Amino acid sequence: MGQHLSRRRDVKLTEQQKEFQLLARKFAREEVVPAAPGYDKSGEYPFPIIKKAWELGLMNSHIPEDCGMLVPWLLTIFFFCLFCFMCNPICHILSGMGLSIFDACLITEELAYGCTGVQTAIEANSLGQMPVILAGNDAQKKKYLGRMTEEPLMCAYCVTEPGAGSDVAGIKTRAVKKGDEYIVNGQKMWITNGGKANWYFLLTRTDSDPKCPASKAFTGFIVDADTPGIQVGRKELNMGQRCSDTRGITFEDVRIPKENVLIGEGAGFKIAMGAFDKTRPPVAAGATGLAQRALDEATNYALERKTFGRLIAEHQAVSFLLAEMAMKVELARMAYQRSAWEVDEGRRNTYYASIAKAFAGDIANQVASDAVQIFGGNGFNSEYPVEKLMRDAKIYQIYEGTAQIQRLIIAREHLGKFKK
Ligand SMILES: Cc1cc2nc3c(=O)[nH]c(=O)nc-3n(C[C@H](O)[C@H](O)[C@H](O)COP(=O)(O)OP(=O)(O)OC[C@H]3O[C@@H](n4cnc5c(N)ncnc54)[C@H](O)[C@@H]3O)c2cc1C
Repeated sequence: MGQHLSRRRDVKLTEQQKEFQLLARKFAREEVVPAAPGYDKSGEYPFPIIKKAWELGLMNSHIPEDCGMLVPWLLTIFFFCLFCFMCNPICHILSGMGLSIFDACLITEELAYGCTGVQTAIEANSLGQMPVILAGNDAQKKKYLGRMTEEPLMCAYCVTEPGAGSDVAGIKTRAVKKGDEYIVNGQKMWITNGGKANWYFLLTRTDSDPKCPASKAFTGFIVDADTPGIQVGRKELNMGQRCSDTRGITFEDVRIPKENVLIGEGAGFKIAMGAFDKTRPPVAAGATGLAQRALDEATNYALERKTFGRLIAEHQAVSFLLAEMAMKVELARMAYQRSAWEVDEGRRNTYYASIAKAFAGDIANQVASDAVQIFGGNGFNSEYPVEKLMRDAKIYQIYEGTAQIQRLIIAREHLGKFKK
């Protein structure tokens, strides 16, 4: 990074939000940015960084407070630790943080600025946990979310299969009830944290009738990763976000106790899809963080590099490109904050979450590509940071619903308002 740091003004944040944002920003810039190129080259899982983020309370921030071991009166005392980051790890170890989606997004944007491979590994925990937060009973929450407040564990969201991604209702993994257990057979693909997870959220088909509506045909389970019959595939070699762990997982006669069903048989599809209203705003925040980084890198470079006797920032074509990039970053930030605010207010935010996810995913790609352009030949070279940003950006148009699927949702929601 160059010596110029962008001075950003945010919407009005609470003191607590500012503290979290600053903590995440400091951590990202001091610890994640320097380590990111090494992890990108080696593809190694960034566990030391994840562990530190967990210790600082920058992970699993939305786990409800009552899911940890901490009793409520102690929680009041430890709340004040949030303002004293020396004590924060103690607080974090003992309780869930219970932060809002807006708060989580602020943290995610900062982590993504450092490295979106790291941010995706961390965000996959939120995605895996969200069905349990939304649909788990008290015992399930205490058992599976509680343990994540006690040590830095990972989890994963297992929905996509080799034959079905966008078309979730096309998944083939089957769960068949036998006595007090379900026997699961099938294959999942592209599972983030697949090889690192302690447990999975798993979506299966339980009704074999092809005419059964999606809202009744699928069941969601929590599955311990060490259950016999689970085979984790090789780590996939992806275009970007290379330190994130993406794998296929095979389930062969895997026995899951009925206590691990979320809500009940047939409720899985709604649970799996419902999670996205709360996880798409943070994905959009991640894409915004990447775009902000690309803009900062390009701006610093444009203020150092000279051609034809002038800084390239003084050529109008370059300054206008920077202006376009800045417009996109600001609007993506507003979009993710709006979608997070809506859901925190208890309102259905599907429309805003898809707008934020689609817009931020697209502009992350445009802004990263423009940053490469501003760097010229250097932008194409791995000694400079922007080619990684361009590779890393692509996945934001694919996972958690592709750019096309977001447009289907936005169109459906938009037209629905006119039809009512
Ligand atoms: C790195 C990575 C991490 C991932 N992590 C996870 C994870 O943790 N858990 C998980 O469950 N999944 C995960 N995924 C899977 C991801 O969500 C899917 O890849 C994505 O939903 C797209 O599904 P697909 O790959 O099957 O593509 P397809 O569904 O086959 O789509 C192919 C193309 O067709 C387009 N398309 C499909 N249907 C339509 C339509 N109706 N209208 C218009 N266009 C359409 C798509 O937009 C896309 O461009 C991950 C994927 C990757 C690459």
